[in-house]
Amino acid sequence: MRNGDVSFWQHDLGSPARRAPLAGDDRCDVAIVGGGLTGLWSAYYLAAARPDLDVRIVERRFAGYGASGRNGGWLSAELSGSRERYAAAHGRAAVVSLLAAMREAVDEVIDVAASEGIDADIVKAGTYVVARNRAQLARLHADVAWQRDWGATDADVRVLDAAELDGELRVAGARAATFTPHCARVHPAKLVRGVAAAVERRGVTIHEGTTALAVEAGAVRTDRGTLRARHVLRCLEGFTAGLPGARREWLPMNSSMIVTAALPADVRAAIGWRDPATLGDFAHAYVYAQLTADGRIALGGRGNPYRFGSRTDVDGRTQPGTVAALTAMLHDLFPATAGVAVEHAWCGVLGVPRDWCTTVAYDAGTGLGTAGGYVGNGLTTTNLAGRTLADLVLGRETALTGLAWVGRDVRRWEPEPLRWQGVQGMYALYRTADRRERRPGSRETSRWARVADRLSGR
Ligand SMILES: Cc1cc2nc3c(=O)[nH]c(=O)nc-3n(C[C@H](O)[C@H](O)[C@H](O)COP(=O)(O)OP(=O)(O)OC[C@H]3O[C@@H](n4cnc5c(N)ncnc54)[C@H](O)[C@@H]3O)c2cc1C
Repeated sequence: MRNGDVSFWQHDLGSPARRAPLAGDDRCDVAIVGGGLTGLWSAYYLAAARPDLDVRIVERRFAGYGASGRNGGWLSAELSGSRERYAAAHGRAAVVSLLAAMREAVDEVIDVAASEGIDADIVKAGTYVVARNRAQLARLHADVAWQRDWGATDADVRVLDAAELDGELRVAGARAATFTPHCARVHPAKLVRGVAAAVERRGVTIHEGTTALAVEAGAVRTDRGTLRARHVLRCLEGFTAGLPGARREWLPMNSSMIVTAALPADVRAAIGWRDPATLGDFAHAYVYAQLTADGRIALGGRGNPYRFGSRTDVDGRTQPGTVAALTAMLHDLFPATAGVAVEHAWCGVLGVPRDWCTTVAYDAGTGLGTAGGYVGNGLTTTNLAGRTLADLVLGRETALTGLAWVGRDVRRWEPEPLRWQGVQGMYALYRTADRRERRPGSRETSRWARVADRLSGR
């Protein structure tokens, strides 16, 4: 089994041809730090609106090296963070607009991929989220009621009983599932490499192999020289903590994945899964999975949630214990996969703000902007955030610049060792809660999960 090598998705496509680094001190109109989807989408919409602007991206390794080329491939309309918290600051209507904008953004990504000729194995087949014990079932019904309270209709979310789910996808022990159509399955590396190529076709320069050492008003200082610009956008999500002064801003939360070999026909027949709807569950330490275009299961979960001192992984290498736990989960969900090889495991970091809500920010005075803190729902969100950053940079007042996540002020994470203890403790509690909820007779959400919710401030 391969471990690391950035991700299965990147390995699947082979090493990308590297773009040239920044060639010494230079100047441009907009300097973007980070060649993931936040940076790339921002550049894409800026270049589309103002082809005359000199837009540059500074990327430490290669475009798509981070979470954008390692994720689970759920192009979903899920909004991270507490809707109630966004509403407290901006009002309920602003949150309803944000939810609608997320749904539209799924289609925007699909449309841009089609118009730019990006073949990223995109199929909009929705998402199933399964409940496998009574406590999870109670959460499923509470979640549907809560979504309806926020305006969701039958067209947005419906409940399938175990027999109905079985007709689509056979998950061991499933009692029921929700289904939402607002999600597409994608091959993440194909998407991010395609967007990078589209951005270049629009005249944007991507300086790879160039590390930002400091991001300041009017300049990005790198190991290859200083890039001066009127507008500077920091688009580093889970890597933000690597910049001086930003260590406690967004916590680099780890997520790990495994992928199987292509499923043999009899295993596939045992599981069903004709349409490639993505799959999640109602556990506290939840899993997420997709069926790839070449018939593999890619499955992810939290693993070791956080490295002391906000450190990040080395080229996606994950711990053997995490691989074993994810493999056990795969076999638990789909016993028919017991004899199927796991071919590749990897991990990556995503950004978590202290209040677990996404932020898009731009200061017209300094010209500094940023977007991130998508808490695991970044694939669609990067597109909406990138479009919003583009409008903010161009000084346009649009529906996007009024969205509920623009310009939020979020407190920082605690210093170490509190940060490490808090995150490890929170996930230990969630795992305890999941174990207790699996016991026969358990009916409700475990109190350990409620303690973890309070501890995390979610
Ligand atoms: C394993 C995993 C599974 C996930 N699954 C899903 C999913 O299914 N659906 C979903 O919606 N979201 C998912 N996410 C989250 C989503 O992938 C991210 O939120 C999103 O891709 C973030 O994009 P980004 O461009 O902001 O950051 P990134 O893609 O991380 O890009 C940041 C870039 O900055 C570069 N960089 C770092 N430091 C520097 C520096 N000093 N100077 C220059 N460049 C630097 C990095 O090399 C990287 O390319 C997942 C994340 C992970 C890790």
